[in-house]
Amino acid sequence: MQRSMGTALALVGLCLGTDAASPNLGVRLEPDAHADPLIRTSPAAAAPERPHAEDVVDYRLTARLDPDAHTVHGEGRIVWRNMSRQPVQDLWLHLYLNAFKNDQSVFLRERVGGRGSTRPSDWGSVDVRRLALASPDGAEVDLLPAMQTRGGDDGADETDAHVALPRKIATGESIELAVAFDDKLPSVVERTGYVGSFHMVAQWFPKIARLEPDGTWAHFPMHHLAEFYADFGTYDVTLDVPEAFTIGATGPVVEARVAGGRRIERHVQSDVHDFAWTAWDRWRALHETIAGVRVTVLFPPGHEHVAARDLAAVRFALPYEASRYGAYPYDVLTVVHPEDNAREAGGMEYPTLITAEGPWWTPDDVLAPEIVTVHELGHQWFYGLVATNEAAWPFLDEGLNQYAEADAMAAWKGPGSAANVFGLRVSDAALQAVASQRGVHDGPVAQSASAFSSGAKYGQLVYARTAAVLETLARVYGIEATLGEYARRFRFEHPTPDDLLAVVAENLGPGVAATLRTALFDKGWVDYAVDGVWSRRAESPAGLFDRDGRRETQTATDQGHYEGGATVHRRGTLSFPVDIELVLDDGSRQRVRWSGEEAETRIPWQGSVGLRAVRVDPDDRVVIDANLENNAAQINPPSGPAPRVLERLALVAQAALQWLGP
Ligand SMILES: [Zn+2]
Repeated sequence: MQRSMGTALALVGLCLGTDAASPNLGVRLEPDAHADPLIRTSPAAAAPERPHAEDVVDYRLTARLDPDAHTVHGEGRIVWRNMSRQPVQDLWLHLYLNAFKNDQSVFLRERVGGRGSTRPSDWGSVDVRRLALASPDGAEVDLLPAMQTRGGDDGADETDAHVALPRKIATGESIELAVAFDDKLPSVVERTGYVGSFHMVAQWFPKIARLEPDGTWAHFPMHHLAEFYADFGTYDVTLDVPEAFTIGATGPVVEARVAGGRRIERHVQSDVHDFAWTAWDRWRALHETIAGVRVTVLFPPGHEHVAARDLAAVRFALPYEASRYGAYPYDVLTVVHPEDNAREAGGMEYPTLITAEGPWWTPDDVLAPEIVTVHELGHQWFYGLVATNEAAWPFLDEGLNQYAEADAMAAWKGPGSAANVFGLRVSDAALQAVASQRGVHDGPVAQSASAFSSGAKYGQLVYARTAAVLETLARVYGIEATLGEYARRFRFEHPTPDDLLAVVAENLGPGVAATLRTALFDKGWVDYAVDGVWSRRAESPAGLFDRDGRRETQTATDQGHYEGGATVHRRGTLSFPVDIELVLDDGSRQRVRWSGEEAETRIPWQGSVGLRAVRVDPDDRVVIDANLENNAAQINPPSGPAPRVLERLALVAQAALQWLGP
């Protein structure tokens, strides 16, 4: 999912907040990204890519849309296999649309700011009409009486239903369920719903929770900030809408026909863990085959230009992300660009279907639509293929994907990867770095979505902090190949933070993995500071000296060279090796490398010219450095504002320009 207005605009908004006066904003206007890392590491050997997921749950459904009543009638069969090591005698079904049934749902009670915080003007719900366990002899056991939908702390939530089964299901055994259900879509609220005849149909069917290998169910009510978690399988869904409507859905169309004023399309996709679709009688479409994938952009009339920008983003990012994180294994990709009045449906990811965002008039210089499209496309890997538990560990999808977004944007657009207005450029990575400083001391990055106290804190830590930490590791150690190895090794799997840390330890060493763990789990922070520079003409010893029983007075004589030095500190709980740059009186520069392991180092200087200034981390590799104002010190600073202050003013100015646009 994308943060509300899209990362660029939202984070520029942050820049204009009270922190605009803080010293940290004067950072990283210099070109960045994709320089060689400070420490060279040998790239990881790429793991072979698994061709398919383990087939755990198959849905064969039909869904009929009534666009006037905003209802969907669904029915069909679900085949589920117990792939855990334990027999089970129950099921958990997620009924997510009930998050919008009334204001007593966990989702609507938890409104903590950010998207989805507005109560829908028209409620939504899903009612399960039929749930039956099929037997090989054709008999059925009605499970509806054994379904308990009331959950949450006080039984008011209806998004997490428990179903007792009449018998134990053995390890490896399959069961088949017959289901029928009626959806009432809400006015578009978060990710799903309708506006007029526009319908975004997501989280719309009774969905079996994931059974972990140890036989425990990973089930949860729909939380305000949390996303989803499910097993892989095949979705075979036949959609039935009025003839005038255009459909976009997960997976390719395998059958299509028009009959009796209805448009019927059957979409089938294996190796996925969700299915979403849209239907609207005003969709326009762009089609292009990109890297062998049939890409469709669905957009409203008048949005031709921004739709072309979405397509251009896919044209760059689809092959780019595949080269980074493994091949895109599906034949199709659909980009759905809702109208601005349905923005809550935008900026979201589903298997082979993503939703974009941005008003038709978005200035070309503000790359918010591109960032949203690249972000949601990145989720095809960090969510789609690497299917982590998004409720328990949101940083594993949103955080890693935010890094992937900034990385791809930098590779595509260079230093102006978020905005390039009147010659002022700001990068996506710089926006992450600025936002990542907020909230660092308030709580860990690595916690469940529901543990965050506000949408803002969730954005700062899960998205921006993870991205900035990974960007730091990329610039210092080169983490790209390691993340690629992680994505390939856990393709079609459900890894945990320990799996990520193990790949980091394997590729970059246990020290780097420990640093990453501290940054994610223990509110790790760091501040490098140059705390003093001195330089003078070297002189011979002077004073009173007792030699051979006599006291001599010795006066200083010039030794013909300079001596000096600097003290550099590392504060905080994280450490990274850094360069320290000495700027000499003749303008030349020299660098020394510091491991950064100790709390302090002293850099001596001796030479034919004096020392003028010292700067730690001159290439801005440690983008999470808590205070960049203290990264340099000089002897006899010139009068007038320091260059950093000027840079800060420039950033605020450009932020204002973007915010006030078009
Ligand atoms: Zn996201």
